[in-house]
Amino acid sequence: MKSLEDYIQAASKNGQPPQPGIILAIRMCLLALKRLEIDNPNERKRSLVVVVETYRCLPDAIQLVTGCRLANRTLKLRDMGKMAATFVDLAADRAIRVAARESANEESSIQYPAIDRLEALARAYRAFPDEDLYQTEWVKVSLASEDLPGSHFPRVICEQCGEGIGFHREVRVGGRTVCRACAGERYYEPV
Ligand SMILES: [Zn+2]
Repeated sequence: MKSLEDYIQAASKNGQPPQPGIILAIRMCLLALKRLEIDNPNERKRSLVVVVETYRCLPDAIQLVTGCRLANRTLKLRDMGKMAATFVDLAADRAIRVAARESANEESSIQYPAIDRLEALARAYRAFPDEDLYQTEWVKVSLASEDLPGSHFPRVICEQCGEGIGFHREVRVGGRTVCRACAGERYYEPV
């Protein structure tokens, strides 16, 4: 596996170091992979799934380090607004959830009082031991078969709007097969 510095380098843009949150996120991935004893996540052929709990820095870092992507269903977003993610090793049937500790923010300004806030955070996120930055727990994650990478389901047509639906996302309402939008779960309103 590549080192933290390699990934920080890869996440740098135009010679600028990445935001502190990216460093925190990269280390979160490295910690999870270490605990799962996965040395090269890119060789996992979709047997590693990550459920990420926020937008912002974390999904990008997970994609960078683990190779998991939304497109092949190895990366999933459950927006809890938390700097946390669960790394699921399907082959070994185990999963670890890693959450960033809020206390690291405060601790960084105590440890590095004389420097800029972001710089202090960046230093802390590089230097603090894992235990000060994250809490971890082994967990069980139930993924429906249609959520697993590589699963295939025939597309069906919504009897209401006529749009095609994949991955078993259709629902039965009043004896008809319809899409979730027509079943009332629409996130948009026609204008
Ligand atoms: Zn529909």
